[in-house]
Amino acid sequence: MSVEIEKLIEQWPHLKEPFEFYARWQQFQREADAILPKNRTTLVPAESKSYPKDSVDSVLDSFATVFNLPKEALEPLAQAMQAGDFDFMRLPLDELPDVSHELTEGELAKILFFLSRPWFLRLREICVLEGGAWEDGRCPVCSARPVLSSIEEGPQRRLHCSWCGSSGTFRFLGCPNCGTENTTKLTTLTPEGEPGFRVIACDACKTYVKVVDSSLLKAMTPDLADLASLPLDIVAQEKGYARQAPNPIGMKKIP
Ligand SMILES: [Zn+2]
Ligand SMILES: [Zn+2]
Repeated sequence: MSVEIEKLIEQWPHLKEPFEFYARWQQFQREADAILPKNRTTLVPAESKSYPKDSVDSVLDSFATVFNLPKEALEPLAQAMQAGDFDFMRLPLDELPDVSHELTEGELAKILFFLSRPWFLRLREICVLEGGAWEDGRCPVCSARPVLSSIEEGPQRRLHCSWCGSSGTFRFLGCPNCGTENTTKLTTLTPEGEPGFRVIACDACKTYVKVVDSSLLKAMTPDLADLASLPLDIVAQEKGYARQAPNPIGMKKIP
């Protein structure tokens, strides 16, 4: 586990479990990144919709070991990737592949989120749209919906992607999920005991986006800020607002 995560656990002891789970995913991310070809253009979606065929087995071996899963359970996914009919780009649109498996839809979605993220992170590195504006409230790199935002000097609003890690600007006012600019539909929730974080919830589409102080993002990544503000997800969801993309431990709906 990194020193950074150990420090965060000291600061937020009630979030020990999510942080530890995230550290496990980070281990998979490091291993997958080492397996993937160094020639970054091999991951252009037009050529490779998921992991390159000669990397599939090693990536899945690493995934099964890190997450303590039986390798056989991942076999249908391996076959779909080898056959080239598994398109990772559908995942942020909430479209799951049609593969036979024994998992519930929720379990499959979670596994695919963890499994595909190293691919998305690599995609962001080579994508010319990285850093571009989120024109229609979707990530320009992978089309995911935003979950975390920050306010920068200007002032300018920046949205952060939990799939590919990209971030880009979006207009200052309005809901990125449905586009409404009717401010009477937008509510700010500022739960006590969570300094540096708040929630902007939209009553037009019943979704929310968290806002993190940009000063906090100097000390931690957007992933870690998303996890550190898990209690805000609970507050927003208890009020009936939905999260539109998974958090770094694969959860949209916080139980
Ligand atoms: Zn993205
Ligand atoms: Zn909305």
